Amino acid sequence: MSQRPETQAIRLQTTRTGEKEHATPLFLTSSFIYDSAEEMAAAFADDSLDVNIYSRFSNPTVDEFIAKIAALEGAEDGIATGTGMAAIFSTFMTFLGKGDHIVSASAVFGSTHTILTKYLPKWGIEHSYFDMTRPETIEAMIKPNTKMLYVETPSNPGLDIIDIEKVAEICKKHKVLFVVDNCFATPAVQQPIKYGADLVLHSATKFIDGQGRVLGGVVVGRKELVKPLYLFVRNTGPSMSAFNAWVLTKSLETLFVRMDKHAENALKIAQGLQGNAKVSQVKYPFLETHPQYAIAKKQMSNGGAIVTFEIKAGIDGGRKFLNALKMISMTNNLGDTRTIASHPASTTHSKLTEEERNAVGITPGLIRVSVGLEHVEDILEDIRQALEKS
Ligand SMILES: *Cc1c(COP(=O)(O)O)cnc(C)c1O
Repeated sequence: MSQRPETQAIRLQTTRTGEKEHATPLFLTSSFIYDSAEEMAAAFADDSLDVNIYSRFSNPTVDEFIAKIAALEGAEDGIATGTGMAAIFSTFMTFLGKGDHIVSASAVFGSTHTILTKYLPKWGIEHSYFDMTRPETIEAMIKPNTKMLYVETPSNPGLDIIDIEKVAEICKKHKVLFVVDNCFATPAVQQPIKYGADLVLHSATKFIDGQGRVLGGVVVGRKELVKPLYLFVRNTGPSMSAFNAWVLTKSLETLFVRMDKHAENALKIAQGLQGNAKVSQVKYPFLETHPQYAIAKKQMSNGGAIVTFEIKAGIDGGRKFLNALKMISMTNNLGDTRTIASHPASTTHSKLTEEERNAVGITPGLIRVSVGLEHVEDILEDIRQALEKS
């Protein structure tokens, strides 16, 4: 019987070396050696061979990280990259070409938006944006040249949620590749492949590492889709470093316990802020007031770690709030043991016009909190005292 995901996250490991080490080994080596010219020739002759040549192509530590996350996502295989953006860009470059069209949710990560609007057009790839809260508009956007449909759910930072199963049905009907950025949920909370997604990708920089140390990205899916992705990464070089893969494979061992605690704290904070006189619109997937609460309950095992709220005093109030925080970190990252607060309108999404920001729900006073693992009362106290000064 195959092990449960909680166990696989801990126990899946590269074959032990002669040293019989208990923890996973770190293979910091650029290349690998051969016993004979014939063996070397064979390694280069067939790029589907499971043999290590050079760490841009493959590395045992990176392979262990890929194998683990693929197992957790219910995928056959995957590729790992230096950052989340490299994973996203590699996916676009592998499956889209001149004259192709991509349908994407408009509420996507800021740099993903930049790739779609500034870079893909350089290669003749066009996009259409749909509103996450109006999934009924998706089907009409699919054209004969549409090759991919792209979503983040929950979205960053709007926390919009889309029914993965319903979107997958549309994609199957029109033979469009369905790609989900599962960064906010992680496979401990949501497995998009189970609901019909073709490829799932992550910024491993966030909850996968979970401790704010390394950058990384990963894409997982069926073998026939991973093969061309692998060749793209192997030849163009956005590969993950073995060191980062080693950190990340150890991080996965605590993913489930971290995500459970993140979500427990986040729900309490969301509930604790509801009704606070200084804020409006507290948003969290597992609050009954969330517009897509029913979908969240269907496809997520908990609400994740991100809570957003609107400071009534607007852009100025948002700045005053951040400046008044005593413990919570002011940084743009998320998915850390330490609680982080950010103000998207003035940071991650500042390159968007105000109109574009409004379209994806980024209002002037929107605060995004990545709830950490500190004692929940310490987090709440800091938020409450800073709100008083907003
Ligand atoms: C951070 C993030 C990315 C980009 O990942 P990097 O590792 O910073 O390159 C992509 N998508 C989402 C949802 C993110 O939060």
